[in-house]
Amino acid sequence: MLKEIEQTAEVARYLWEKGWAERNGGNITVNVTDSLDEASKSLPAIAGPFPIGTILPHLKGCFFYCKGTGKRMRDLARDPMSNGSVIRIREDCSSYEIIADKPVMPTSELPSHLSVHDYLLAKGSPYRASLHTHPIELVALTHNRKWMEKDVATNMLWSMIPETKAFCPRGLGMVPYMLPGSVELADATIKAIDDDYDVVMWEKHGVFAVDVDVMSAFDQVDVLNKAALIYIASRNMGFEPDGMTDGQLKELSTAFGLPK
Ligand SMILES: [Zn+2]
Repeated sequence: MLKEIEQTAEVARYLWEKGWAERNGGNITVNVTDSLDEASKSLPAIAGPFPIGTILPHLKGCFFYCKGTGKRMRDLARDPMSNGSVIRIREDCSSYEIIADKPVMPTSELPSHLSVHDYLLAKGSPYRASLHTHPIELVALTHNRKWMEKDVATNMLWSMIPETKAFCPRGLGMVPYMLPGSVELADATIKAIDDDYDVVMWEKHGVFAVDVDVMSAFDQVDVLNKAALIYIASRNMGFEPDGMTDGQLKELSTAFGLPK
């Protein structure tokens, strides 16, 4: 099995253990094109073609591992090839076929995930994985208007512990509530990624993260949620945490060459 698929199964287990993936919640799609050998790439279709619903010109001939629609992360962790499948984007850039291992239909959010991958490839980004999950404390933050303002949550989270800025150096982009799976939400997510965020918060719903691989995307969400937990722990101790100073945060950026 591909390293990327083994890693996806490992991340799926973490998502379940953290309580971020109830029922069939969350999605993962990984661009595995560069990892497949020529023999695998020429495997015949076992199902399809199916329309994507949109034209994605940069994905011609690309291959993706996708979580299956209605499948649970906790099941994917045990058996990734029965709870997800590998798809090939066809020449027309607007349809796909399933090539392995079983005819498991991909996530219903496939068009939005693939739109993000198309955007990333068009930009020349090295990012190959996208992750959507429901991290409890980060979602809770979005139930208060103050945290939805640009970079208010980012600055608070960064200021809780230096590693947060070091390992999630672009912060948390905010997208107001939109219907799950809608074109509007996909467009707003791409706009937020284009505004230089790797992790995007969907108000009252969850996060969408992109990175070189799914473990790195998970790590970014994990450090952000850890910072939210530290904030909550301080509030539970009865005080508003001071947070690191602006000067200390700037010093980190200089010392580690961070983008913001
Ligand atoms: Zn969701």
